[in-house]
Amino acid sequence: MTRFLKKKGCIIDKLNGEKMKERIKIFDTTLRDGEQSPGASLNVFEKLEIARQLAKLNVDIIEAGFPVSSPGQFEAVQRIADESDKIIAGLARAKEIDIKTAYEALRNGKNPRIHTFSSTSDFHIMGKFADSKYGATLAEKRSTIIKMSYDAVSYAKTFLNDVEFSAEDAGRTDTGYLCDVIEAAIEAGAMTINIPDTTGYTLPHEFGAKIAEIKKRVKNINKAVISIHCHNDLGLAVANSLAGIENGARQVECTINGIGERAGNASLEEIVMTLNVRKDACNYYTGIKVDELYNSSRMVSGFTGIIVQPNKAIVGENAFAHESGIHQDGMLKDKSTYEIMNPESVGVKKTKIVLGRHSGRHGLKSRLEELGYHLPEDKIQKVYDLFLELADKKKEVFDDDLRILMGDEIYKKKELFELEYLNITSGTETIPTATVRIKTGDKTFKESSIGDGPVDASFNAIERALGFKPALESYNVRSVTSGRQAMGEAIVRIRDGENSFSGRGVSTDIIEASAKAYLQAINQLYLFNHTALVFENDNLVIK
Ligand SMILES: [Zn+2]
Repeated sequence: MTRFLKKKGCIIDKLNGEKMKERIKIFDTTLRDGEQSPGASLNVFEKLEIARQLAKLNVDIIEAGFPVSSPGQFEAVQRIADESDKIIAGLARAKEIDIKTAYEALRNGKNPRIHTFSSTSDFHIMGKFADSKYGATLAEKRSTIIKMSYDAVSYAKTFLNDVEFSAEDAGRTDTGYLCDVIEAAIEAGAMTINIPDTTGYTLPHEFGAKIAEIKKRVKNINKAVISIHCHNDLGLAVANSLAGIENGARQVECTINGIGERAGNASLEEIVMTLNVRKDACNYYTGIKVDELYNSSRMVSGFTGIIVQPNKAIVGENAFAHESGIHQDGMLKDKSTYEIMNPESVGVKKTKIVLGRHSGRHGLKSRLEELGYHLPEDKIQKVYDLFLELADKKKEVFDDDLRILMGDEIYKKKELFELEYLNITSGTETIPTATVRIKTGDKTFKESSIGDGPVDASFNAIERALGFKPALESYNVRSVTSGRQAMGEAIVRIRDGENSFSGRGVSTDIIEASAKAYLQAINQLYLFNHTALVFENDNLVIK
């Protein structure tokens, strides 16, 4: 009886007379906040694939994007909401156009949620609402924001029942005022109230006290779930999240690998495994299938191009590596000497599986499925051809190579400009020269150019072919898999006025990777300048 009940988690504790464990909802924002990481940009297909993996991981809520911000964001939220059984959230500022657009994206989903927000700290109020139309004094501006928050939630409620409200920069907001904003949002119908430490400024004891204070002071707080959303600017996002949970939060917003704006968000795997490994000390549990953590981490890293630091807790390359002789000796005698959790428990496989030219289509497909990728029938041949091409160059194809392959080529949409051909001449005694052929629709452009090096020459040739020279903001290249024939990844950022755009290219040839990345950034810029979401006679149109 006891053994059977143990599997049920909280029931056993109740029967033993202990305090009943409480369920913490995991709100994953990898696809929204995570995608705001510098250098990360995901296409619609990659987002769909990550959403499927998040569902497998069994998160409770997936924040799929910020629909009004671009047609790409809109489409991703819409397609994820259409196919997922999970609660899918779309972000919206406290503006009618944002809320309406979020609803349009979510409307056919099974469990849609509108997530709207207002800024509440004095820093944000004086910065974002400086205009006198919001009030002449801080006090007047503050009451305008309470009204805006109330109106935004009320408006969202005309579309959907599940509405979440966030008080942006709550970490630096005066708690008394914050309580007034929250009360108004709940009165308007918000079912979840999120308290973000947007700037990652608070300390765990302060953040915990803030949540406790909200619980105590907001009269109608029991009508809503308290959520937290912590940033990692001081490396305290996970600690602050745990302090928030300890003081009454029952939803935690986090991302895979802790990616996100600046130093990132609280890391999902660290919060979940802390509650899991230290269940003796924590009275909470989550619904996460922890053996999917490693695959989720690798997939997000592969698609976003953001490498996981080797010493990252839970999912880093070295998280379970024991280097010193004393540690190794101890581990051989008894694993628990230096290990508080099994690598297998989070899905790290003991043996590395290597595929090669002779692995066959079936072997490749089943390996990709084990890694969490869903391979549509019509893509199998394309994946297999790319795999053979890679196996010819590399001989041994590792899991990480497959992840890059899935991210780089398979889900790429047809771009406006595509690199059809690249030829480079370079050497110690020659002037580097590049020739490119670029296709757009049924036209092709061909140009050659010299440069200070082969990368410069290829960028010059692309600029000549397109008759356009964007301002280069940054250029990085690095190897993303192991070995001499490793895949090289190039990330290029270009600037156009206020906006910057990034492109990513992967290849065993770093010059080719660089040229692809440059062209992808240019494609992003064109897409941005030539499309917009507008309402025409109440219908949403993508222009
Ligand atoms: Zn955030």
